[in-house]
Amino acid sequence: MTERRLSVEDLHSWYGESHILHGADFHVNRGEVVTLLGRNGAGKTTTMRALMGVARQRKGTAKLDGHDLLATPPHRVAGLGLGYVPEERGIFSSLSVAENLLLPPITRPGGMSIADIHDLFPNLKGRDRTIGTRLSGGEQQMLAIARILRTGADFILLDEPTEGLAPVIVDDISRALGTLKSMGLTIILVEQNIRFATANADRHYVMEQGRIVDEFTNDALMADMSRIDAYLGV
Ligand code: ATP
Repeated sequence: MTERRLSVEDLHSWYGESHILHGADFHVNRGEVVTLLGRNGAGKTTTMRALMGVARQRKGTAKLDGHDLLATPPHRVAGLGLGYVPEERGIFSSLSVAENLLLPPITRPGGMSIADIHDLFPNLKGRDRTIGTRLSGGEQQMLAIARILRTGADFILLDEPTEGLAPVIVDDISRALGTLKSMGLTIILVEQNIRFATANADRHYVMEQGRIVDEFTNDALMADMSRIDAYLGV
């Protein structure tokens, strides 16, 4: 039976006077990988920020496992299992790989051990003392994801993890996502790389101007990729 983990209804968000999300509606089931696709500025990052409570001005409904996310203070959201890996990654240049990894507090039981993390991302193995920002872009992305997995988050919001990365490292990250999916994690992925998106996702939502305007199963999209082209301006 599919169990719904996240239900978002009529979600609005503002930055100051700018009204950015105009009533987004979508849902994510347990263990699903779901993408938010759309052009630059459509509101994908803002959706993640609104769910995490980083974007504070919000209205509507967002329920995670029955908990009202809009009524949850940002410092308690991680305790519900939601983890956010922002596009800019947030690796600290003053800290080593090990220190970056240990930085976020463990908020729930069941997080990955360092050994699990090294199995998932062998590139990070033996790099404990390396300064975080000395890693390649792809390795920094791995570190940013690993750090969240260690906290015990089992519902991950991943914002453009492959942006600017070489194809071989994109393949490494794709394999890691496959492992996380097989472990039963739930993931929302914002992604411009359609090949990566279709290799990993079960379903896709299309955002335009702060709303969800279309939805595809991965099979439907794979059967006719032209369905997404008009939305993305390909
Ligand atoms: P991108 O791929 O460019 O990040 P996106 O779909 O994730 O696209 P958002 O980053 O959510 O889009 O941005 C949605 C809109 O909100 C854009 O018009 C952007 O300029 C605006 N915006 C984003 N952050 C802020 C901010 N801190 N203050 C004001 N406006 C913002």
